[in-house]
Amino acid sequence: KPSKSSNVSRSQSPDKSDLEVSKDTETINSDSSNDFIDDSELSEKELFAKMEDQIISEVKGIDYQAAKQIFNEIVVRGDEVHWDDIAGLETAKNSLKETVVYPFLRPDLFSGLREPARGMLLFGPPGTGKTMLARAVATESKSTFFSISASSLTSKYLGESEKLVRALFLLARKLSPSIIFVDEIDSILSSRSENGENESSRRIKNEFLIQWSNLTHAAAGNDHGEDLQRVLVLAATNLPWSIDEAARRRFVRRQYIPLPEDETRSSHVQKLMKFQNHSMTDEELSKLVELTDGYSGSDITALAKDAAMGPLRSLGDKLLFTEKSDIRPIELQDFEKSLKYIRPSVSKENLKEFDDWAAKFGSSG
Ligand code: ADP
Repeated sequence: KPSKSSNVSRSQSPDKSDLEVSKDTETINSDSSNDFIDDSELSEKELFAKMEDQIISEVKGIDYQAAKQIFNEIVVRGDEVHWDDIAGLETAKNSLKETVVYPFLRPDLFSGLREPARGMLLFGPPGTGKTMLARAVATESKSTFFSISASSLTSKYLGESEKLVRALFLLARKLSPSIIFVDEIDSILSSRSENGENESSRRIKNEFLIQWSNLTHAAAGNDHGEDLQRVLVLAATNLPWSIDEAARRRFVRRQYIPLPEDETRSSHVQKLMKFQNHSMTDEELSKLVELTDGYSGSDITALAKDAAMGPLRSLGDKLLFTEKSDIRPIELQDFEKSLKYIRPSVSKENLKEFDDWAAKFGSSG
């Protein structure tokens, strides 16, 4: 899962100019109590905190604590993912480019009938690259990336969760272009009939749906200088069938992210082995691709990590006295051993459920 460091406030590092923008606006705002502090004396962390405060002060009606929490826990910083880091998934990449990346980069071309979608759902078995795709979309579309899950919005204090949801959407609008990525959307937008829906999750769900539709309504006649066309809810789920029907319809595009095909597994394996010392021939690599039929992307990563331990395992304690250059290369045999206990995490029955749902509700392609 993506790590969240705390020094940068965009999917790409803000450069000096971002900070200068915030300084400029600050001088206009003459009653700011920070005016007498010379910025050069502040650490990077303090500068960012100051920049955040400035942004928050410019958003009308936002809850300060909630906004701070969004900045701290939900705006993802650093650790960029690019298209090339993701093996295969060409259809999904193309669909994301058309739905999000191009409209975000060239808004002038995407109006009227070509108006971009406000929501896109990525669904499929776990570990197939949905989160990676979302991160790549944020990088490639140069957007602020808000990454949330049900747990990051749940607060034990009554009313706090709704404040968080509101702050999330207000900040996404303020910092547009923005991607609001919701992992495990099913747990936020589960169908009402689902048992165990308690008062607080019902409130989170309602607030989320309200804020999301406000986005569409506010886009027409928006006079706050916000770029509402470029705020998109991108969601991922392993349980698409538990999403509330009304919520499901709001995701105009629903992209199936299936288990990797031969070609995708092949490019994934090659990516993983590229900088490793291994002795596998092209035939052996093809054999490995065959053997990993039914494995998800994360299963393959786990398998390769385990196989890479093979040469070290075979040394036992001698490992401590062996030169790095004397460690033998990774062989197909190491993979064959690992295949015995790193098993595919998705079952055949489970796959059928996804295929059925995709046939019924998925976008074509
Ligand atoms: P999901 O969100 O679908 O559950 P993730 O995007 O979190 O899956 O993927 C989990 C891990 O599996 C990634 O960090 C990566 O190491 C690996 N992985 C999955 N799919 C791919 C892929 N197509 N290309 C490269 N790595 C992948």
